[in-house]
Amino acid sequence: MEPEELVKLSSNENPHGPSPAAVDAASRAVADAHVYPTAAHADLTERLADEWDVDPEQVWVGPGADGALDYLSRATLDPGDRVLVPSPGFAYYGMSARYHHGSVAEYPLSKADGFAQTAEGVLDAYDGERIVYVTTPHNPTGSVLEREELRALLDGVDDRTLVVVDEAYGEYSDEPSAVELLDARDDLAVTRTFSKAYGLAGLRIGYAVVPESWADAYARVNTPFAANVAALAAASAALDDDDHVERSVESARWARAFLAAELDAPTFDTAANFVLADVGDGTAVAERAQQRGVIVRDTTSFGLPGCVRVSCGTESETRRAVEVLNDVLAEREAVTDASATGMGTEPGSGGGA
Ligand code: PMP
Repeated sequence: MEPEELVKLSSNENPHGPSPAAVDAASRAVADAHVYPTAAHADLTERLADEWDVDPEQVWVGPGADGALDYLSRATLDPGDRVLVPSPGFAYYGMSARYHHGSVAEYPLSKADGFAQTAEGVLDAYDGERIVYVTTPHNPTGSVLEREELRALLDGVDDRTLVVVDEAYGEYSDEPSAVELLDARDDLAVTRTFSKAYGLAGLRIGYAVVPESWADAYARVNTPFAANVAALAAASAALDDDDHVERSVESARWARAFLAAELDAPTFDTAANFVLADVGDGTAVAERAQQRGVIVRDTTSFGLPGCVRVSCGTESETRRAVEVLNDVLAEREAVTDASATGMGTEPGSGGGA
C-alpha cells in the first residue's frame, strides 16, 4: 500500500492541516532564520497573554506542551519528589518527573465508570505529591474533569502541591479553561498546545500558563530559545485564524459522533478529537486494520489492552476507518462464533492454523 493511501488516525492530529495563514507566516519567518527568536517569542507570549488575560511572564512557551511540562518539572521538582498521574494516562507526565529525578504514583480512572474523573477519585490516591496531573479532556479516554470537581481537587490538596491541568485537547471541549482560575491561585498551572486544534504538531509549540507569583521562574528553567522562529510565527498567525480552529473543532465533533454511532463496538463519551473503542483485543484489531490501510492506536501501552483509540479524521477518512474497523470486528466475531461451536477446531477447517 502506498503511504498516501494510508489513513493515519493514531496521533490525534488535525486532519485538515495547519491554517494557511500559519504556513505563510512560518515560511516568511524562515527568511530571518539567522536571527535568534527573541522578538518572535515576545510576540507570541504577548498575543497569548492577551488571549488569556494574564501577564506575558505567566506564559511559558516551549517546544510542545511536552516542553512546557518539562519546564514545570524543572521549576518544581527536587530529587525524590513524587508526582501523581492518571492511569490510564499520558505517559510523558511520569517520564518528565523521572528525568528530573522524581518518582511517580498513580490514581485510577475506571473503565466501569466510563473513566469518569472526580476530585474524590484523585484525592483517594493522593498522598502529598508535589505535582498532581489532570488531563481534561483526558487522553486516551476523552473524559473531562468538570469545573466544580477541579475546585474541590484544588481545595483538597496540600499547600505544597501544584495541580497541573493539561488542556491539550481543550479546544474540542465545552468546559471552560482552568486558566480562568489562575487569578485566585498560586497552586495551579495549565498546559495547552498548538499540536491539535491548530494543526501545528510538527513545529513543536505549546505553553503553560502559570500563577503570577512564581512566573519569573521561567527565566531560570527554560532552555534558551527553545521555540524556533517558524513555530513562533506560525502559532501567532494560527491564533488569528479563528475560522480554521472552528472548522477543525466542528469537523472533530462530527467525526466523534459518527464513530460513536457507527462503530460496532462500545465507545466512551469523549470531549476530545478521538474516540476510545472497546474492541476486545486492541493489538489484534489495530494490526488487522493497519493491514487494510487504517492506522489506529492500540491502547495496550496505556494499560487498556482491550481498546483502540481512533482519532477524528476528515469525513472520508472517518468513514473509511469505520468501514475497515467494522469489517475487522465482524471477522473476529465470525472466528469466535466458529470456535464456540467447534467448527473452527475441526481438522481441515483451517481453524487450527
Ligand atoms: N498532553 C496530552 C494529553 C497529549 O495527548 C499530548 C500529545 N499527544 C501532549 C500533552 C503533548 O503535546 P505536544 O507536545 O505535541 O504539544
